[in-house]
Amino acid sequence: MTKIQKYKMYINGQWVNSESGKLIETLNPENNKIWATVPEANTKDVDKAVKAAQTAFNTSWANLYPRDRAKYLRSLADLLRKNSEHLGKIETIDTGKLFRETKTQAKYIAEYYDYFAGLADKVEGTVVPIDKPDMQVTTTRIPIGVVAAIIPWNSQMLLTAVKLAPALAMGNTVVIKASELAPVTLLEFAKLVEKSGIPKGVVNVITGLGEPCGKALTAHKLVERIAFTGGPETAKHIIKNSSENLSQVSLELGGKSPVVVFNDADQENALNGITSGIFGASGQSCIAGSRLYIQSKIYDEFLYKLVKKAQKIKIGAPMKKETQMGPLNSFKQLEYIEKNIKSTIEQGGKIKCGGKRLSISNEGYYFPPTIIECKNHNLPSAKNELFGPVLSVMKFKEEEEAIKLMNDNKYGLSSGVYTSNLGKAMRVSKAIRAGMVFVNTYRLISPMAPFGGIKDSGYGKEAGIESIKEYTRVKTTWYNSSDKPMTDPFTMG
Ligand code: NAD
Repeated sequence: MTKIQKYKMYINGQWVNSESGKLIETLNPENNKIWATVPEANTKDVDKAVKAAQTAFNTSWANLYPRDRAKYLRSLADLLRKNSEHLGKIETIDTGKLFRETKTQAKYIAEYYDYFAGLADKVEGTVVPIDKPDMQVTTTRIPIGVVAAIIPWNSQMLLTAVKLAPALAMGNTVVIKASELAPVTLLEFAKLVEKSGIPKGVVNVITGLGEPCGKALTAHKLVERIAFTGGPETAKHIIKNSSENLSQVSLELGGKSPVVVFNDADQENALNGITSGIFGASGQSCIAGSRLYIQSKIYDEFLYKLVKKAQKIKIGAPMKKETQMGPLNSFKQLEYIEKNIKSTIEQGGKIKCGGKRLSISNEGYYFPPTIIECKNHNLPSAKNELFGPVLSVMKFKEEEEAIKLMNDNKYGLSSGVYTSNLGKAMRVSKAIRAGMVFVNTYRLISPMAPFGGIKDSGYGKEAGIESIKEYTRVKTTWYNSSDKPMTDPFTMG
C-alpha cells in the first residue's frame, strides 16, 4: 500500500495545520484511493490568512517598486519551468488529467507570470483636461488590497495564474482557496512561492470546503476583490457573500459551448478540433465544445467519421504515455453524466458511441467518449453543462439557422466555427453571443489573449493586457497650482 501524503497549508509564510486539526482526504480518480490529506480550514484559519495578507499589503508588497515585484514573478516563472514535471505529476494524481497535458501546462503557466511581470511597470495614469482654473487633476492606478482567489478542481495552476500574476504585479496580496476535490497541486505550487522569496503573507494558500472556508473567505471584511472560477450555482453564493464586504467580483463560470461545421469545412481539421474540444481533459474543460451543429449535406458522412475517431480514443491510466483520455475527477460527476444521458435517451436521443460506464469504471472514474444524436438541442445532454466527454450532435440547413441555434443557450463562454469561406467565418463569429470564438481551431489559451464569457458564463476577463487593470482602482488627485488662497466658501456665488 502506498503511503498517504500529509500536506499543510501555507499561511503567512508558514506551513500550518488547521486550527481544528480536521483533515480532508483526497482521492486519486484513477483508483478511488485516498492518496493525500490536507487541512480543512475553518473560519479561524481563513481569518489568519486574510489578516496575514492585509499586513503584507500594508507593510511591504504594495509599496515595492513595480519592477521589484516583477522580479519575484519572474523568479516564480523560472521555478515553474524547472518543476513542471513534478507539478504535472501531482496535478495528474489530484485531478485524473493526463500527465502529458498537466506537465506541458505547468511549464506554459510560467509564461503568465512572465507576461504580467512585464506589464507591472507599464500601467500608467492620466492627466485629466479639467474645466477648473489653476487645477491639475491626475489619475493613478492603485492596488485594491487583499484578493480572494477561489479555484475549481480543474486546471488549478492555470486558473490561479490568471488571477495571481496580475494581482501581484499590481501590488495586491492574495489568499487562494484550493478546491476540496483536488487540493494538493496548489500546496505544491505554494512551495515554489516560498522558494521564490515572495515576502511572507503576500501569497497564502488554504484548503477547505466551500462552506465554511470559501464562504468565510469571500465574506471576510478585509477582502476587497474576489476572483472566482467555478460553477454558476456557487457563483450565486459568492455574490451573496460579497454583500458582506462589497468586494469587486469577477466570475469565470461554466459553458455549453456550440461548435458549427459547415458543408465547406476542411473535414480533417474540423474532426481534430472537435475531438480535442470535447474529449480533451475528458471533456472537463469549461470551454469544452459540447454542442455540435453539422450542416445537412455533410451530416451523415461527418458524423460517421467523428464516431470512428471517438471510438479509437485510448482510455486508461493518466500517467501512461499512450493514454489519450483519463478518468473523470469524481464519481459524483460520473453519476451526474449518466443521469443526463439516461434522460436524453428517454427523450429520443440516440447514442452513436459510448454512453455507458466501462468495466474499469468501478475502480477509477472512467467514462468513454460519448456522442449522442439529438433531434433538438433541448434534450438534457445538449442543454446542460455535463463537464464530461459527451458530445450532443444536431443537424441544421442554413447559416442563419445555425446562428440562432448556437445562441439559444443560457451560457456564453466559448464557440467554434469550421468553414473555408472567410466571409461566412466573419459573419458567424460576429453573430455568436459568446466571450470567445475559435475559427477553424479550438481549445487554445495564451497569457496575451483575454479569456472569459458573457451571459451565465460570468463577467470579467482574465489574461490579456486589460486584465491587469481588473486588479487596480483609479485614484483621482487634485492639485491646486495657484499662489492665491482658496476663495472663502461663504463669499462664493
Ligand atoms: P464549484 O463551483 O463546485 O467549486 C469551485 C470552488 O468554489 C471550489 O473551491 C469550492 O470549494 C468553492 N465553493 C463552493 N461553495 C462555495 C461557497 N459557498 N462560497 C465560496 N466558495 C465556495 O466548481 P468545480 O466543480 O470545482 O469546477 C467545475 C465548474 O467550474 C464547472 O462549471 C466549470 O465550467 C467551471 N469552470 C469555469 C472556468 C472558466 O474559466 N470559465 C474554468 C474552469 C472551470
